[in-house]
Amino acid sequence: MPLEGEFLGGGDEVGRLGILLKCPGARVLFDYGITASDPPQYPAPCPPVDIMFLTHSHLDHCGMIPWLTARNDINVVSTSISREIGILLMDDSIKIGAAEGYPEPYTSADVKIARRKFDEIQFGDTSQAGKMTVIAHSAGHIPGATMYELQGKRTTLITGDIHTLDTRLVAGAKPVKCDNLIMESTYSGRNHPARLKTEYAFLKKIEEVNQRGGTAIIPSFAVGRTQEILLLLKDSRFDFWLDGMGKKVNAIYLRYPEFVRSAKRLRQAVSRTHEVRNVHARSRAAQADVVVTTSGMLDGGPVLGYAENIRNDPKSAILLTGYQVEGSNGRKLIETGYMEFQGVSEKVNCEVLKFDFSAHAGHDELLAFAKGCSPEKIVLMHGDQREILAGDLKAQGFEVHLPKNGEKWTI
Ligand SMILES: [Zn+2]
Ligand SMILES: [Zn+2]
Repeated sequence: MPLEGEFLGGGDEVGRLGILLKCPGARVLFDYGITASDPPQYPAPCPPVDIMFLTHSHLDHCGMIPWLTARNDINVVSTSISREIGILLMDDSIKIGAAEGYPEPYTSADVKIARRKFDEIQFGDTSQAGKMTVIAHSAGHIPGATMYELQGKRTTLITGDIHTLDTRLVAGAKPVKCDNLIMESTYSGRNHPARLKTEYAFLKKIEEVNQRGGTAIIPSFAVGRTQEILLLLKDSRFDFWLDGMGKKVNAIYLRYPEFVRSAKRLRQAVSRTHEVRNVHARSRAAQADVVVTTSGMLDGGPVLGYAENIRNDPKSAILLTGYQVEGSNGRKLIETGYMEFQGVSEKVNCEVLKFDFSAHAGHDELLAFAKGCSPEKIVLMHGDQREILAGDLKAQGFEVHLPKNGEKWTI
């Protein structure tokens, strides 16, 4: 029997993912997130479902779970670490919503309900979705990120966000043989520079900034990116500080060491990190060699204070560590040399550079991954330039589907 699917969001865009699948005997939802833009964007309301599977806890995959579990008495299957990070992000998004004056689609009480609905799965374990058996595999994107393999008459693999190369934090994902592949395509049409070269250039730049008497401010997403950067800084001689939500994420990662590539190295990195715990420490950190802090795209968080401090200091630098979404403060800084501080646009005179520490597979890696899975049909999702990858996959003989949000499709 073919599967019928629909994207509630995140089909033809990077963000707010929700994949509805009608499986034999169950209506299943994979991920349900929000795009944390200004204003936030939500997926379409989810019709009643029987079970949800969460691939990983970035807000664009998990941010709407409390809305869902407040309306459906269902379980949310995920790894333990995704549950803990997810709860942290959901609570935080209520605080941010309140601070920025956006109505939140759920309350703290709803988050508490959501917490009780999680049903833990380990890599290699199986779960049930109607008549289908579901197997969890590591997606290599952040610790605990999961690909789900649905076994019925035909096998379907849902990747969530994937990375196929090893990073310092997690080992890369391996292909899984399947008939249908529902794959992310964030980096369709784009490849990453070699990671070792990026790491070398990044460390060299920090050294240069320090030698001329400046501080390097490293805006980093709290979940995944911060820890990757700390693992890189661990072996340097720099005095590095961490401020913002990354501290809480560190603590959670250390509680679930089985999901990181080397628990020992992460422990060493965290113990070498100076954590900013009060105002006094914050003023010390501002004078240090390096400050790693949130938010990664300069949209709020302690990074704004640090950036304000060095804004007119040409010896210092802001070193961005990831993709800056259109409309973000970080994108504005790169494109115009100005950024927003509490609603006021100011010129930034320190050095600004961007480094690619992406946790997503690049174009060629996605192509190789798909070939390794050798599916008959491929649905590309979570991308705003899917056609480029689709073209390359079709040229290799795959049947490729590019459904838009709200469109029904069958595989
Ligand atoms: Zn992600
Ligand atoms: Zn994502």
